Amino acid sequence: MKSKVYFMDDRYKALSSSIPAKAMQLFDHAGLGDCFKPGDSVAIKCHMGEWFNTGYLRPILIRVIADKVKELGGKPFVTDTTTAPYYFYGARCTASFYLENAARNGFTAETMGCPVIISDGMYGTDDVRVDLSDGLLLKEGYLARGIADADSVIVVSHFKGHGNGVYGGSIKNVAIGCSSKRGKFNVHLCTHQKVGWNGWSFDGKKCKGEECPNHVVCNNLCPAGALKIEKDGATYDGSKCIGCFGHQRPLFRCGLWGREKYDDWSNWFLVAMADAAAGYVRHIGKERIGYLTYALDLTPACDCVPGTDRAVLPNLGVFASRDMVAIDMAALDMSVQAHGIHGSVADEKHVMEPGQEKFTVINGMSQWISPNACSLLGAGSKDYELVTPEVSGDEAAFTHPLLKPENPAGKQLGEAMKRFGGWTPPGGFKYNDSPKVSLDELRKR
Ligand code: SF4
Repeated sequence: MKSKVYFMDDRYKALSSSIPAKAMQLFDHAGLGDCFKPGDSVAIKCHMGEWFNTGYLRPILIRVIADKVKELGGKPFVTDTTTAPYYFYGARCTASFYLENAARNGFTAETMGCPVIISDGMYGTDDVRVDLSDGLLLKEGYLARGIADADSVIVVSHFKGHGNGVYGGSIKNVAIGCSSKRGKFNVHLCTHQKVGWNGWSFDGKKCKGEECPNHVVCNNLCPAGALKIEKDGATYDGSKCIGCFGHQRPLFRCGLWGREKYDDWSNWFLVAMADAAAGYVRHIGKERIGYLTYALDLTPACDCVPGTDRAVLPNLGVFASRDMVAIDMAALDMSVQAHGIHGSVADEKHVMEPGQEKFTVINGMSQWISPNACSLLGAGSKDYELVTPEVSGDEAAFTHPLLKPENPAGKQLGEAMKRFGGWTPPGGFKYNDSPKVSLDELRKR
């Protein structure tokens, strides 16, 4: 049987057709409330944006999901996990850095109306080992304990491109986003005996040593002391490497490591993600997870980067489903049918037309690998039915709880006016009878 994916587009006509209101409606249409019962703790898994990224999901888009959970009696908490040091100034590498960064980006207990928790602890060590004996590549995964211990999980994803994942959606939000720090090291395969990047050939003489303006950061970025920048070059001790994915700058920008295995590593990473995602869903229980995806601000790269490029596709809308694979397939299929945005990376890479696989071309790997592998692992179905429910016309259902038809904004102000007399100055507002400039003049450039 086909999995159902519920969808509403991004067009706005009135309050009930705003994106947050559509998310609330789709939450109900897709039955996400069936993932938990009153009193259950519900992890709302999202990404709260890297330092100086501006493409991450706006706080209101997460807040309304917390509100829905509370409305149905659940106890929500908004959550994410600490990151590997992918980016040397990554502001989410410890829980304290992450919470400070999240507050700067607008995510606090006050704005979310519920706790904001980093689910793998201060340094990312708090996790549950998940056996992946049926994994295509991985044998184990490490799921953040806060997520593993929740009664239910609502995975709220930002659909867009991703440099390593090809695209970002539900599968990646579960595979990497729900992994603890060592879980992330594991899925990134840096220490894999065949494709791992710490086994790539190394030439420390390509490093300019202390002459390079970046030698200080490069000398300090390896947590294990495996990479050292000396006076005239770099040294690397592979026996110390913990596979943290941290030396991207000397690897990719300076080419200290040969990239003979790059294609193997980057493509198998997509399979490893599927192993982790499928294993985590099985561990948590399919019946306890729901998915909601915002396909807005479709940038070529992820929200983990410290900046945001021009979107490559126009906003698509909001998706909701109980099936992790089906929801990603629906968003990917829709992205294939969309036009690219002029002046974006889609334009540079000549994928502007409907029918072209935008993210496959933009990020250089097939966008279908992770959903195909997840489907092979039984984590969801590629076969789906796109359901497009009618948008509610009931504006009052989505207003502030104190602003209802019998008590709209004007009535609130009217009550106050009775106390202080209103805003109109004595004798009314004064105007020039005839404006001192003609509109025709103002209409000219
Ligand atoms: S050498 Fe290993 S431990 Fe050090 S930064 Fe690179 S991946 Fe991380």
